Amino acid sequence: MPSPIDYSAAGTVFNMQRYSIHDGPGIRTIVFLKGCPLSCLWCCNPESQNPKPEVMYQASLCIHCGKCIKACKFGAIDPQNAGLLDHTKCVACGECVNVCPAGALTMKGQRLTVEQVIQELKRDEINYRRSGGGITLSGGEPLLQSGFAVELLKACHAKGWHTAIETTAYASAEAIETVFPFIDLALLDIKSLNNEIHRKVTGVSNEIILKNAKRISELTETVVRVPTIPGVNASPEGISAICEFVLTLHRVKTVHLLPYHTYGENKYDLLGREYLMDANVSLSAEDAEQLKQIVESYGLNCVIGG
Ligand code: SF4
Ligand code: SF4
Repeated sequence: MPSPIDYSAAGTVFNMQRYSIHDGPGIRTIVFLKGCPLSCLWCCNPESQNPKPEVMYQASLCIHCGKCIKACKFGAIDPQNAGLLDHTKCVACGECVNVCPAGALTMKGQRLTVEQVIQELKRDEINYRRSGGGITLSGGEPLLQSGFAVELLKACHAKGWHTAIETTAYASAEAIETVFPFIDLALLDIKSLNNEIHRKVTGVSNEIILKNAKRISELTETVVRVPTIPGVNASPEGISAICEFVLTLHRVKTVHLLPYHTYGENKYDLLGREYLMDANVSLSAEDAEQLKQIVESYGLNCVIGG
């Protein structure tokens, strides 16, 4: 008998994106969970990395009214430069966001219960049913909040909705074993087989990831996704090494090559952080096509984008 669903379980969510058609079958809602053990240089969602809620400041919207300075009881806002946050002092109480009349301050991340997320997802219930869609957990790394993820996924399955996850696979064995029985499709990121490069560009070793990838592919239908990054893996050698690894996984037949972009660059500024990736680096359509041919030469299906 399936265990009861804990609708009061709470997690930290930083976005819910409706009408997605790229992250699993049909029409989907992507639920972005906050917190990631990796810090990839090219990350387009840097607000996902910190597991706690945090404030983003958009200087172009600020009208310099000074209300945020008065509202902050923690001295986290520079009195000489309204809106500019000292993230080491900020406790994410949200007072400055509440008083800002210009929308220059936004809170990224809020605690939501399974019940609250399900209520939001229900708005698209008809679309899920008609298109065979459902929910995709993303992040950050959703497996960091495995307890919340399991209850949410159980609730989605109880409604008959398809479930998918975008994951780095950097997680405990326990998280893998508890979450994946409730996942219909895993979209599994592999960045590099070269551990030295992997550590340099993500901040962590790839050993746990490669080990977990094998187990995930045994538990769930899996598609491997590769963010194609020049200087990291977007080379014949880099992609070939990944393909050879994919062939060792259980019944994985498809690889998505995700073209490198710099869409998240301005968010680093809004968070008071530095964008360390070279913004001038790019991958041409011809280069992407060449990498696709390499993937296909291994007998794997390949989609650019995915
Ligand atoms: S969220 Fe709270 S602690 Fe942080 S800057 Fe705003 S008022 Fe200050
Ligand atoms: S409250 Fe908003 S608009 Fe006013 S100074 Fe602060 S950030 Fe700028």
